[in-house]
Amino acid sequence: MSRSVLVTGGNRGIGLAIARAFADAGEKVAYTYRSGEPPAELAERGCLAVKCDITDPEQVEQAYKEIEERHGPVEVLVANAGVTRDQLLMRMSEEDFSTVLDTNLTGTFRVVKRANRGMLRARKGRIVLISSVVGLAGSAGQANYAASKAGLVGFARSIARELGSRNITCNVVAPGFVDTDMTRVLSDEQRAGIVGQVPLGRYAQPGEIAAAVRFLASEEAAYITGAVIPVDGGLGMGH
Ligand code: NDP
Repeated sequence: MSRSVLVTGGNRGIGLAIARAFADAGEKVAYTYRSGEPPAELAERGCLAVKCDITDPEQVEQAYKEIEERHGPVEVLVANAGVTRDQLLMRMSEEDFSTVLDTNLTGTFRVVKRANRGMLRARKGRIVLISSVVGLAGSAGQANYAASKAGLVGFARSIARELGSRNITCNVVAPGFVDTDMTRVLSDEQRAGIVGQVPLGRYAQPGEIAAAVRFLASEEAAYITGAVIPVDGGLGMGH
């Protein structure tokens, strides 16, 4: 298959692994990056780097125009870009809360809404949203992040109901703790505490999240929609 795939935040971490996995499968991959230089390894794989901050609707529109010109309408969208601004509730500012919601939840709304246009016309499409185990279980110091990631579940399930009849699926992947920049800021003590609660006793590698995303975008997953797939080493069992 060579579909037009878009991965937001594909320049590093989990998004990079997802872009790599789709490129290795022969898909036409575009990815957004917000800062820095696009990674050379994706350029070597022929991936299209598009500069875009998903908190800016105009940049989202421009990114889609560029992708549509080069690869055609997006057929597989992976909404991965996300941020944290951890803080206890009593110290959490309006900005800490709104930045995280605007990026993780509203930013996802922006990219999904724009992709939906082409998918409706094509009467097919795959949408995968990257949530988190924290969205289901909660996490002290992450009320903003957990709210944004829980919001993605209701969003995805609504989309799944709206668009199912058009052969468009919308699913959520909920990773546990993954070895990326986002978790490298944790102290050794915090990391050890987390690993102690994970039945598989380790962090995930980004490629392990990418494998679940690729499956949800594959032909084999054609009858899966509105699902929340945990890839968390068992950390969130019960949700
Ligand atoms: P990283 O911090 O390594 O990467 C985050 C990515 O999101 C970067 O590409 C970043 O771009 C991009 N991004 C952030 N804000 C924006 C924005 N406003 N517009 C466009 N792009 C933006 O995070 P991870 O790879 O670890 O996380 C990827 C996703 O997985 C996130 O949604 C995260 O919440 C989720 N997740 C991560 C877990 C983990 O343990 N790491 C666990 C569960 C979920 P730039 O490089 O320019 O900053």
